[in-house]
Amino acid sequence: MSTSRDINATLVDTAPAVPTNAAARADVPVPKVEPKRTNLFDLERVQLEDFFEQVLGEKRYRAHQVMKWIHHRYVTDFSDMTDLGKALRAKLEQHAHVHAPSVVLDKASEDGTHKWLLGMDAKNAIETVFIPDKGRGTLCVSSQVGCALNCQFCSTATQGFNRNLSTAEIIGQVWIAARHLGNVPHQQRRLTNVVMMGMGEPLANFDNVVRAMSIMRDDLGYGLANKRVTLSTAGMVPQIDKLGELSDVSLAVSLHAANDELRSELVPLNKKYPIEMLMDACVRYALRKPGTSVTFEYTLMKGVNDQPQHARQLVQLMRSFDRSVQMKGAAKVNLIPFNPFPGTRFERPTDQAIRAFQKLLNDTGMIAPVRRTRGDDIDAACGQLKGQVMDRTRRNSEFRRSLGQQERGDAAA
Ligand code: SAH
Repeated sequence: MSTSRDINATLVDTAPAVPTNAAARADVPVPKVEPKRTNLFDLERVQLEDFFEQVLGEKRYRAHQVMKWIHHRYVTDFSDMTDLGKALRAKLEQHAHVHAPSVVLDKASEDGTHKWLLGMDAKNAIETVFIPDKGRGTLCVSSQVGCALNCQFCSTATQGFNRNLSTAEIIGQVWIAARHLGNVPHQQRRLTNVVMMGMGEPLANFDNVVRAMSIMRDDLGYGLANKRVTLSTAGMVPQIDKLGELSDVSLAVSLHAANDELRSELVPLNKKYPIEMLMDACVRYALRKPGTSVTFEYTLMKGVNDQPQHARQLVQLMRSFDRSVQMKGAAKVNLIPFNPFPGTRFERPTDQAIRAFQKLLNDTGMIAPVRRTRGDDIDAACGQLKGQVMDRTRRNSEFRRSLGQQERGDAAA
């Protein structure tokens, strides 16, 4: 049997001799190894302090000055950070950089919504959307390039999954929007809320998302109150518990159906974490801190989950949540009219049907706002974000599908 060991042996045998101590031989040029520079966007406050102390040998508070330059004044060039000494700036130059994603495309909607297509690497781009409203400005941030969860009604899912975004790539989205808006934390706040509701499942990229959310909430970052940073999940139960231990943000859960059969069809993750398990995790999350509510998102799809019995099931589930948390209104429902995208088999219910569904909830005393569709003209609404995903999973499945078609074609011939 031919083994890889044989091949390695051949390679070693024929490889030119590499001097082990090249520096000692004047005739052999020593390749200059550039030290890997840390992207400071990747570090939350305590990590940046550690970096200053351990890597640069500086005082920890210096990290605070740098955070303000980056997140409050949008300065990324160390030579412009004028309250740092020359020697420190040189050291920073050597060990660090501040690198934001590149803006590939930038579109403004008639209703004030703004969408950015941001390049993450040579092959992948993601989308970030800013939605201004009365007295608030919400940024919808992506956590992954594509998504692996395959929710049937979501455009991002049709792209498959490629990779997680780094902390720098997540907070970089906030930085780009905030800079564009002329946002000055604590003074001129244009960006008041962040929702992790863009492309991807944030809890599947746990560490990077939690770190980025910590920068969003830090006074030296974007200074957003905990309540104003919302993480939306399709229902990754163990990670909801972990989030409750490590972070304190608003939790939103994409429910879309209050019975397991339908939910498993719409959100395949439900087969792993069915509704009862999911609701228990939400109760634990809410009970951590008195007064905590959880938002349940319900995308209304014509003839699928918009019937009176669906509304009744939803009311039951929400009531039972309120009882467990011992707080009326602890469960908040957000109704999202389905946003169509090319190739989808779902449709948006009529406005009348949406109102009728909402009324059934309201009649039981439940408040359930219908989320207005924003940025329609630039494909910036919920579930319409696509970016450009160089997808591995999809390439695989397309490959398998094309094989299947070929077989069927062969059989027909
Ligand atoms: N993976 C996370 C966050 C991304 S989706 C989650 O599932 O929560 C953000 C919200 O938009 C979710 O509630 C999602 O279900 C909803 N959504 C997805 N596609 C949609 C569509 N085509 N129309 C309306 N809402 C959609």
